[in-house]
Amino acid sequence: MPFTDHRLDGCVHELVESPFDGGFTIVRHLPEVPPDQQEAYIRELLSHWRSRATNRTGLMPLEEWCFYCGNDRQYTYPDEATHQTDSGLIRVVTLKQVPLRTGIPIDRTPADETYSRKNAYGALERIILPSHDRRIAELDAGTFGLCLQIAASRIADLARDPNLKYVTFFVDGNGVVEDCGFIHTQLQVIGVTDVPKIRIAPQLQRSLGFYYGQQKERCLTCETIGTELKRIDRIVLTTDHFLSWIPYASRSPLEVCFTPLDHAASYEETPPSQFAELAGLILDVVRKLELLLGTRFPYQLKLFNAPVWSFGRFPNGSPEVKREHIQNAFHWRLVLDPNLEIPAVIREVVDYDINVLPPKVGAMLLRLPDHEISKWTS
Ligand SMILES: [Zn+2]
Ligand SMILES: [Zn+2]
Repeated sequence: MPFTDHRLDGCVHELVESPFDGGFTIVRHLPEVPPDQQEAYIRELLSHWRSRATNRTGLMPLEEWCFYCGNDRQYTYPDEATHQTDSGLIRVVTLKQVPLRTGIPIDRTPADETYSRKNAYGALERIILPSHDRRIAELDAGTFGLCLQIAASRIADLARDPNLKYVTFFVDGNGVVEDCGFIHTQLQVIGVTDVPKIRIAPQLQRSLGFYYGQQKERCLTCETIGTELKRIDRIVLTTDHFLSWIPYASRSPLEVCFTPLDHAASYEETPPSQFAELAGLILDVVRKLELLLGTRFPYQLKLFNAPVWSFGRFPNGSPEVKREHIQNAFHWRLVLDPNLEIPAVIREVVDYDINVLPPKVGAMLLRLPDHEISKWTS
């Protein structure tokens, strides 16, 4: 007997194109049915995601096996930097197993038939918090803000390496990528010799096209968040300098973007006084997500940043683009991407992402006071 989910009768599916990178997401909108039936659909989704998060078998290594606890530093190169806090030492380290290296000559020979090659030049540093098992949601805004600020200073430092064109950071929240992701909250700063071709190059291209091609007075993101602030229904939370919202074409349910309200291309140029504010906003959203999804849901926090290289040809074969062009046209943002659905092969073959929770419903849930969020999961 074919499986039929009657709750889906009358759902409208839209193909929504992201203005930022041109990717398409199939967004499901709820059917025109009585509110209690819509509520039942949302509750079932939340309970499905919660149970998957709870059942995850992520290993929590014991402290005695941990790379970072104690003084056993055989697995890491000497610390790049350290910062003393009330709860211990925040370390910036490079693991010896990391395949990328800086400070070596770039060697592109020999080419291999149709493949071009070079040695794996790059940087991958970890900013590691002292506590073995404390989640991001358990940090205070001051400590997490210090981590965000250290990430900015590492990006600025790596940007001085003329071989690196793009430097960013990400957080593997609750170990979605690595088995050991449950241990030690850590921000990973990565610097590479090319502007990433799938995720970043199209964003730059579209940002430049919007600002210079269409001769707009504001960048694409400033224009987008201006519209969002007027509509309000996809806004999650705001502070004096930052906004969090769920984009119309978000790639997955409850994906949240964090953006400075004033135009800013490079994350590393954020005024130091604003990092605790940004951290507080991110923590508020992560805590609300934990109320909805439980404390073990996997997520990534990713920075989409302006490239650090000063000028060059971009995109392929185009006239030279100068740093000031990028600074005018691009606007950095952090994306918190909860990995709630198993990725469909459809993404791999036709590039479509699928979002089964309407963005404005996600934003509505995350705007609720904590005690009301709990009612949705009880
Ligand atoms: Zn540890
Ligand atoms: Zn802007």
